[in-house]
Amino acid sequence: MPHAIISGGSLSGLFAGVVLKQLGYRVTIFERSPVMVGQGAGIVCGGEVAQFFQMFDKTKTTLVVRSNARQHLNKDGGVVFGTYSNTVQQMTSWDKLFYVLRANFDGFHKDDFIYGPGDEPSTMVDKNMSYRLGHAVTSHSVDSATGRVRVEYTVQSATEGAPPTTGTEEADVLICAEGPAAPSRDVYLPDVKRGYSGYLAFRGLVPEAELSPETAKSLTQIFTFYFGKKTQMLSYMIPGPRGDTTPGNRHLNWVWYNNYAEGTPEYKRMMTDKSGRVHSNAMRPGDLPEDVIQTEYRQRAEEILPPQFKEIVLKTKNPFFQRVTDLMAPKAVFHDGRFILFGDALQGPRPHTAASTNQGAVHALLLFDHLRQASARGTPLQTALKGLEGDWQATALSYAGQLAYSGKMMGDRSQFGEP
Ligand SMILES: Cc1cc2nc3c(=O)[nH]c(=O)nc-3n(C[C@H](O)[C@H](O)[C@H](O)COP(=O)(O)OP(=O)(O)OC[C@H]3O[C@@H](n4cnc5c(N)ncnc54)[C@H](O)[C@@H]3O)c2cc1C
Repeated sequence: MPHAIISGGSLSGLFAGVVLKQLGYRVTIFERSPVMVGQGAGIVCGGEVAQFFQMFDKTKTTLVVRSNARQHLNKDGGVVFGTYSNTVQQMTSWDKLFYVLRANFDGFHKDDFIYGPGDEPSTMVDKNMSYRLGHAVTSHSVDSATGRVRVEYTVQSATEGAPPTTGTEEADVLICAEGPAAPSRDVYLPDVKRGYSGYLAFRGLVPEAELSPETAKSLTQIFTFYFGKKTQMLSYMIPGPRGDTTPGNRHLNWVWYNNYAEGTPEYKRMMTDKSGRVHSNAMRPGDLPEDVIQTEYRQRAEEILPPQFKEIVLKTKNPFFQRVTDLMAPKAVFHDGRFILFGDALQGPRPHTAASTNQGAVHALLLFDHLRQASARGTPLQTALKGLEGDWQATALSYAGQLAYSGKMMGDRSQFGEP
């Protein structure tokens, strides 16, 4: 049984874990964070995400809330250009994808979470699949004679203040799904770093039941946008708490882009949390100082947003934000296929493409096809892994390049051009 180690236990790591399980691998996922707390926020479910779950989700869970049309608002809340259809999109939440993937990977499940009518997650426990929280991969090396990868990691102690312990583990392949910052990528591509776009994505959720009747009527069926000068906002419905997709129990998810030039006092203020700690990329729900929430969210929403969007920003209890960045690695496969960049670790698209999670699913589906065909032909593992340098890498890089280009074009136009 070949052994794969995956560094990074978010969505791309789990996509990879589920397909390798199907292919008969023993899989160990190391996740640096001691707990995976989803922000519960929205994810547009692209075609390959849907295909992935059709192929591999044994729980048969309903993942999405459908939006059948799009509309653009003007500043007064009226609809401009009319409502246009033929734009069906499926929306889901990070939590929903995470828990259904965990159920399929190692049978882990959350008790009150809503799964589908298929297999019970508890029947999917598999001792060959291991998901280890609080384990950070610190280094790796490949034995050139055997091709085996040796991975070193640290384990966070459960006792506060106690030093971490260390460990090593060997595998046939190491998949790096560590997100855009990906420390393990530095060994091969030290100069590939995230570049800041010049704007942040504020995000938040409002329970559907808390919307006013007018706003519910305007926003709950339709993917809605507002373009103002140097600002853009959008909203769509997603599953609610416990992954509930029933109307009335869902969440309205919103994203609001605003410009903050790096190095300015406004930027520094945004990146400093309520305890004075300076963050480099994102601010989690609950960490923003009250005065920032007051001026940057509430006051600005009052001044520049259409009434429906103003309402949802003001009703959001714990807004958070992420910096919008660009990241593109020029290569995905290293050491004859023993080290592979996956998901955002290869390319972190801007959110306008709504395709970051889809990219992880694309990588996993391509990997599944490649390894399954190699196995059907009786190709030795070593040759099959080396073969990833061919079509798998070329397709992954071409997909990444398209996303990087379109994300930058869309974002720069809306944030720095004319609305
Ligand atoms: C907790 C969490 C919540 C999120 N919530 C949302 C959301 O609500 N909406 C949304 O659109 N997107 C969300 N995202 C981002 C979204 O998952 C990704 O942009 C997209 O799905 C691509 O995922 P990824 O797995 O490639 O990268 P990421 O999601 O960035 O995951 C990378 C993972 O690798 C881990 N990691 C990094 N370095 C190491 C290391 N050395 N050793 C071990 N582990 C390591 C990180 O802790 C992280 O869990 C969230 C991400 C996380 C981690």
